[in-house]
Amino acid sequence: MKLKLLLAFTILVSVFFIFQKNRNLNEKSETITEAQILAANKTNSSKTQKIPTHHSDDIKSDQTTVFNVPASKIAIQKKIKLTPFSRLESEIGELTYTIDEDVAVIQGDIVLGTPPNDAATGKTSQPNLTLWPSGVIPFYIQSNVSNPERIFKALSYFEKTKIHFLAGLNQTDFLVFQESSGNCKSYLGKVGGAQPIWISPNCGVREIIHELMHAIGFIHEQNRSDRNQFLDMLWVNIDSRHKINFDIFSSSLMQLSGLSSFDFESVMLYPDTMFSINNQPTMRPKDPTQFIRPSSALSSKDLERLNLINSD
Ligand SMILES: [Zn+2]
Repeated sequence: MKLKLLLAFTILVSVFFIFQKNRNLNEKSETITEAQILAANKTNSSKTQKIPTHHSDDIKSDQTTVFNVPASKIAIQKKIKLTPFSRLESEIGELTYTIDEDVAVIQGDIVLGTPPNDAATGKTSQPNLTLWPSGVIPFYIQSNVSNPERIFKALSYFEKTKIHFLAGLNQTDFLVFQESSGNCKSYLGKVGGAQPIWISPNCGVREIIHELMHAIGFIHEQNRSDRNQFLDMLWVNIDSRHKINFDIFSSSLMQLSGLSSFDFESVMLYPDTMFSINNQPTMRPKDPTQFIRPSSALSSKDLERLNLINSD
């Protein structure tokens, strides 16, 4: 009996010490200050790393590296600069934006920046599009983003393209994956600084690939400047609140999307019943031999376009 009691006591003490050790480690990682982050950002010596492959073991090991980047969630969020934008006075080329999580959004998931006032909607001009130099996009994943494996999986689809995602935050411009309580969304192309990309808990790999395409500089296929040559819009079936999601973008935003002809299988094309008020199609190919069937990842034309970037 005494022996059993001694054994139980020993186990209890060991468990207590292991618990204390882990707690100290956690507390240590939470006390890093913003000054340290800024210092880390200025140092050119910290490593950037290539993203892991589909292999789950690789994901685990590289994930640790990413999470070891010395940063607390709060410090990074303070650094994030949202770009302001202005309202449009004329009605030429105007787009209607709505507000999601305090940022102005067009076409469901393209972020413009901080709205000029607190109205729930407004008009604005077409956004500008700046591409990432040499197709290199540094990224950082905030520690509060749930299930980061889905982000690594999405990034891995770009491995054999001319776009290179590199883990690390010691860059002037980089993408920051942050938890979203609204829709998944992204800026279009590079806006500079710590650039957020919003990931909500229900975003799957396909949605993350789609948002990454926006961050690279791709627009939706149904918003292309030439879409009326390829699609008939069935306006009677579209929920009037969502007609703004079918606005056409100017040809200046076709730098990347226009690298191929209209793609009925692109990850950037909405399904044909998206925003339908009656479950009937909201758009139909003009060519009766074509079908709207968006890819669950990157379509062959998406890959083709990604491989034409910077190949001048
Ligand atoms: Zn989108």
